[in-house]
Amino acid sequence: KNTDISCIGCGVIIQTEDPSTIGYTPSSQLEKEEVVCQRCFRLRNYNEVQDVSLTDQDFLNILNGLGNTDSLIVKVIDIFDFNGSWLTGLHRFVGKNPILLIGNKVDLLPKSIKKNKLTQWMRGQAKELGLQPIDVLLVSSTKGLHIAEAMEKIEQYRAGKDVYVVGCTNVGKSTFINRIIKHVAGGEDVITTSHFPGTTLDMIEIPLDDGNALFDTPGIINHHQMAHFVDKKDLKIITPNKEIKPKVFQLNEEQTLFFGGLARLDYLKGGRRSLVCYLGNASQIHRTKLENADELYDKHVGDMLQPPRKDELDTFPKLVRHEFTIKEGKTDIVFSGLGWVTVNDPGAKVAAYVPKGVSVMLRRSLI
Ligand code: GDP
Repeated sequence: KNTDISCIGCGVIIQTEDPSTIGYTPSSQLEKEEVVCQRCFRLRNYNEVQDVSLTDQDFLNILNGLGNTDSLIVKVIDIFDFNGSWLTGLHRFVGKNPILLIGNKVDLLPKSIKKNKLTQWMRGQAKELGLQPIDVLLVSSTKGLHIAEAMEKIEQYRAGKDVYVVGCTNVGKSTFINRIIKHVAGGEDVITTSHFPGTTLDMIEIPLDDGNALFDTPGIINHHQMAHFVDKKDLKIITPNKEIKPKVFQLNEEQTLFFGGLARLDYLKGGRRSLVCYLGNASQIHRTKLENADELYDKHVGDMLQPPRKDELDTFPKLVRHEFTIKEGKTDIVFSGLGWVTVNDPGAKVAAYVPKGVSVMLRRSLI
């Protein structure tokens, strides 16, 4: 039996009858002020993702549906979390439909970077990931930067057809759509935005002038994003809300950097060199000697090294070590959702640590 309560995590209508279907929550939980469905509860507290397949399947269904349309697909990604917010395999679903790639949150990147360089970089990365977009744009939905230009391009590329906007949760898709609604409809917000991933659930239709429509599809949850492993308050800390200021660290071999208690980078080999950290401005970076790092973490995670906070420690996943040798110059070590560290010259050996389930990877330097 359905209640009239929505899950604060994913927005699904809560039901207390069938544990195997979406929205299930034990009835004992209904008294709580904020009700979370079992799926979101598990994801957040136990890192379990297997029972999320239902939503993934729903999403695949939507993607399959897109292949049967004659439309323009607008794919929104978070330029601060490019890989973490990438929807894998979209090109395999959309058939012949052109894809316009929009990098949102450009306001977070240092203003000194040339826009051309960024869009070139996006094209290159997209190509490596198997996607050849019809065009690549950068916008800031919160600041309203380049929105008019994006709308012009959408108008141009849709050539009288429908538009489907896709993206994973937290890329700012709702904020972007709300901007469009203001332009198109002159109306008020019809979509809620939230700091917590997973809140855009239904397809929203915005009528366009010529009888076609722009559809907002539900955001897919990307399980590898750091956002799923931290509390809402902490998410505010690690998610930058203004231009990120790079921090340069001169490191000797066998020195370690901690990013709060969320991630860690051991600089193992490669002589003295500088590493440039691009993280949310509120994220605390601590430097220590490698030989002291394990002990420091055990002792101080939750106080000096936070987020996570003390009361989250029993559910916060263990950090997992990934070793990398950097073979090319200008490489970013990306901590999904948290930021990245740029290594300018080849030859460095590092170990990067992230919570179990979060991805960490190398890529060609963004900046
Ligand atoms: P959705 O889940 O993709 O619909 O994302 P939302 O629109 O709810 O936005 C997720 C978070 O990103 C919110 O905290 C927004 O304020 C933030 N956000 C959205 N657009 C931008 C942007 O252009 N710049 C920055 N800095 N933050 C943004």
